[in-house]
Amino acid sequence: MTKRSYPFGYCCVKGEIMINEKEGEVVKRIFEEYAGGRSLKEIADSLNEQGIAFKTAVSPWHKSRVHHLLTDGRYIGEKNYPPLIEWELFERSARLRENKYGETEPVSEEIKFLQKRVVCDACGSRYVRKLGKKGDRYWVCGAHCSGSVLTESCLLSAIETIIEKAVKKRELLYGKMPKTGYHVTAEIVRMTNQWNALNGKCGFAAGKTMLLALASKKFSACREDKSIYTDAVDDALIDKMQGGMTDEQLFHQVIRKVIVAKEGGLSLEFANGAIVSLREE
Ligand SMILES: [Zn+2]
Repeated sequence: MTKRSYPFGYCCVKGEIMINEKEGEVVKRIFEEYAGGRSLKEIADSLNEQGIAFKTAVSPWHKSRVHHLLTDGRYIGEKNYPPLIEWELFERSARLRENKYGETEPVSEEIKFLQKRVVCDACGSRYVRKLGKKGDRYWVCGAHCSGSVLTESCLLSAIETIIEKAVKKRELLYGKMPKTGYHVTAEIVRMTNQWNALNGKCGFAAGKTMLLALASKKFSACREDKSIYTDAVDDALIDKMQGGMTDEQLFHQVIRKVIVAKEGGLSLEFANGAIVSLREE
């Protein structure tokens, strides 16, 4: 038995990779059937029933062989292979796989948490978790802006590193808070101008009413001052450092946002509003 050195559907003629017409038809059929809703096993079974050989007659088709074929980018022209499959069909089957695996593969609590908390710094959208061609997971901006793409292992290790950094250097938790105060709305500007224009030339009651209305607008536009949570975050980090808490518990207690910057830089926003980045000291 000779070892097949080219993916099913290709052959080599005088050193050049060519499409093997007969096998190429089988590859197309597999993609079409999968996109049409047949399962990996159904496809493998029907190929075996019809006596379509994989390598040799003794090597039957099976589920993982079909799966492997559906994920091979060379069929859409990667690595300079002549394309056999339309990119659209390839993607359609990748999305189907993603849905199928998405349902069956259990997602850890840590990942579920991150699915709500990872955001794109460039556009503010949430990051979404995707399934790569080789079954790997990666994260991209849900709005498909120019935000960076991160592998899951990279994302997790970056978060870990930032937490370690904050544990070792807790003063980071006291710096870089977003400014408190209120968001200046158009209405607040208008009311303030109105008040200033009056320049005290109105009755006491009318003036009081106006000022109260303005104060109330400002109050409702206030940002929450989260610095009161600093001690709680600090305690949680000490607890974590002493081994009294898992990463997952720590995540839930102290992390509010994971912010992915355009150049792949990562920052964590803690429950007290402090933002700690991967890169800066
Ligand atoms: Zn984005």
